[in-house]
Amino acid sequence: MPSDRLKIVWIYPDLLSTYGDQGNTIVLERRAALRGVPTETVHLRSDEPVPPDGDLYLLGGGEDRPQILAAQRLRADGGLAEAARRNAVIFAVCAGYQILGHEFGGEEGQPLPGLGLLDIRSGRGQQRAVGEVVGDVAAELNVPRITGFENHQGVTTIGPNARPLAKVVAGVGNGDGQGFEGAYAGHTLGTYMHGPALVRNPGLADLLLTWAVGMELPQLPPSWSERLREERLNAALAPR
Ligand code: GLN
Repeated sequence: MPSDRLKIVWIYPDLLSTYGDQGNTIVLERRAALRGVPTETVHLRSDEPVPPDGDLYLLGGGEDRPQILAAQRLRADGGLAEAARRNAVIFAVCAGYQILGHEFGGEEGQPLPGLGLLDIRSGRGQQRAVGEVVGDVAAELNVPRITGFENHQGVTTIGPNARPLAKVVAGVGNGDGQGFEGAYAGHTLGTYMHGPALVRNPGLADLLLTWAVGMELPQLPPSWSERLREERLNAALAPR
């Protein structure tokens, strides 16, 4: 974090923001403020250039056509790739997650180019994955079990230069036949989880904040966010 404020860039809310993904920005602002870290959030429309000096870039989910348009504009802009080279934190959900990869499936399943910032490839599966998803996060990230809501046709495979974010406990996730959900490499992390993901999983929010400020942050007392997480975990894992 080079300046005295943590700069959060919420990318293309006019194209990529389904199921309340914008809540991810709000929870980051709040959890940073509770640690005395001031934030500044840019709500970046898709006709504006990506600012090069962000600390934390967020992308949400989207329908197929807005997703394709967002990928075209982000590729042409180049700012997010520059941010990744600086090792800024990038957190992406669903359509945003697919866009970070080498390619994703268009409306007819045709492969379309992504940004190539995360070593993943997405295509279109036979059926949509819709419902609650639960995953056990890679041990080295030290984040407890995560929960979210998924709604996607995309199927994502992870290449050798990225790692699975989590192992699926319930739901579909990447749908790659290996039971993985999401992926990460360096400070770039993607998931199929809406919810919004960072509201339902405060541990994941704190991981991103820790990466962005470059140091451990003090623990916060449990809040409604932990209660929500517990409630969603119980609901998702309850026998039917
Ligand atoms: N359009 C993409 C898919 O169906 C992403 C959907 C989403 O972001 N919810 O896979």
